[in-house]
Amino acid sequence: MPKVLIEPDRCKGCELCNAACPQQILAMSKEINTKGYFFARVTDQTRCIGCRLCAISCPDVAIAIRVHAVRYNLYDY
Ligand code: SF4
Ligand code: SF4
Repeated sequence: MPKVLIEPDRCKGCELCNAACPQQILAMSKEINTKGYFFARVTDQTRCIGCRLCAISCPDVAIAIRVHAVRYNLYDY
């Protein structure tokens, strides 16, 4: 099963990943991160199809996806 890996402290709360997810399984937290932003979180990991659109859409590289033990980081910086 694909696994969404979100680094809360890299998130700036722009919600682009929420809009990009075809499964509508991303939402914003009710807590804030160390930067003072509400951060993205997964609401139902079991429905993730591993498409990586969330990771591609994130301008802050806060999301990586793991599919079949392979971790996809969309950028390496
Ligand atoms: S990999 Fe695709 S289905 Fe899974 S959370 Fe990201 S956008 Fe949604
Ligand atoms: S696209 Fe990235 S920075 Fe924007 S809410 Fe999602 S995880 Fe946070």
